[in-house]
Amino acid sequence: MPRPILCTIHPQAIRHNLERVRSAAKDANLLCVTKANAYGHGIEHAFEGMRAADGFAVVDLEEAQRLRRLDWRGPILLIEGVFELRDLELCSRLGLWHVVHCDEQIDWLAAHKTQVPHRVFLKMNSGMNRLGFTPERFRSAYARLNALPQVEEISFITHFSDADGPRGIDHQVSVFEQMTQDLPGERSVCNSAATMRFAGNGKLRNDWVRPGIVLYGSSPDYPQRTAQDWGLQPGMTLSSKIIGTQNLQAGDTVGYGSTFTADGPMQVGVVACGYADGYPRHCGTGTPVLVNGVRTRLLGRVSMDMVTVDLTAIPDAGMGSEVVLWGRSPVTGVELSIDEVAAAAGTLGYELMCAIAPRVPVVSDEAPLRK
Ligand SMILES: *Cc1c(COP(=O)(O)O)cnc(C)c1O
Repeated sequence: MPRPILCTIHPQAIRHNLERVRSAAKDANLLCVTKANAYGHGIEHAFEGMRAADGFAVVDLEEAQRLRRLDWRGPILLIEGVFELRDLELCSRLGLWHVVHCDEQIDWLAAHKTQVPHRVFLKMNSGMNRLGFTPERFRSAYARLNALPQVEEISFITHFSDADGPRGIDHQVSVFEQMTQDLPGERSVCNSAATMRFAGNGKLRNDWVRPGIVLYGSSPDYPQRTAQDWGLQPGMTLSSKIIGTQNLQAGDTVGYGSTFTADGPMQVGVVACGYADGYPRHCGTGTPVLVNGVRTRLLGRVSMDMVTVDLTAIPDAGMGSEVVLWGRSPVTGVELSIDEVAAAAGTLGYELMCAIAPRVPVVSDEAPLRK
């Protein structure tokens, strides 16, 4: 029997989350972000839940190719643009849209021989200071692009640094608006947090929103609001089983470093899941976990291949019992948000979903893809 650990993807939940995004941004087109192998879900699995998308946004050309292989004929945007001149050939061949964020990318376009002119998204650095032209340099970049026969259509894009926090987006929106106001072209500004929090306020032009995390069922502004508050369902369940049990007495300790000490008789379960599976090692005693669909807690340190959990209050649990590390219990339907587990490790749901280790099998709970 294979080791019982499993990562199950729920396309139906992703479909549901996509509808949540639609109702938050009624007039916008959705560019579903499937970079990083659909945030660890597997592009092929996630795609099943995203057939209602208006387009996809990826970072790797290989991810764009995989979407085309799934027969997706609609828009695909490379959100970092191309990395070298040669990449533009694939853009031409696959009809990819691409971001243009620096002079070099304009030089490459100018040197690119193509029959089909491209649609590009000119990126403004409106305050994040990662990719993009500064507001001062934006208009000259636009003029250069606009003069190229290789370019058919120019849209405008920027990215927010604080859409999930108290600083918000207003300062960046005003810079962006001011510089693009009189330019013709569609706009793409909102990630998940901005889409859910601000897209419906009537102040933003949202031709294309770019939701990522929200599609996978993690709250874009946890802990202010939880996934449940947003009406989201987990796109992924990481599950395993109890492979051993121990009876502890007062004074007994658990795991490396003996960081947990029992203060009375306890029942402990050992779960086949550790940091080599992508479970965060920084989770300590008290991190929530579901056993037989009942919420309990981690005890002691996370090891490479195992964690230990408290079974004291779950008398029917034992060898072979189902354990959900995050996601939804198939037994009871009870959910444990990835955001709670991430918070216990001092990180975000994003990092956990992207870090599912290669040794964990990833399956979909819907019928397999037709070829
Ligand atoms: C990753 C990314 C997104 C999606 O962000 P979420 O917070 O997951 O919604 C949108 N736009 C850009 C440019 C990105 O890099």
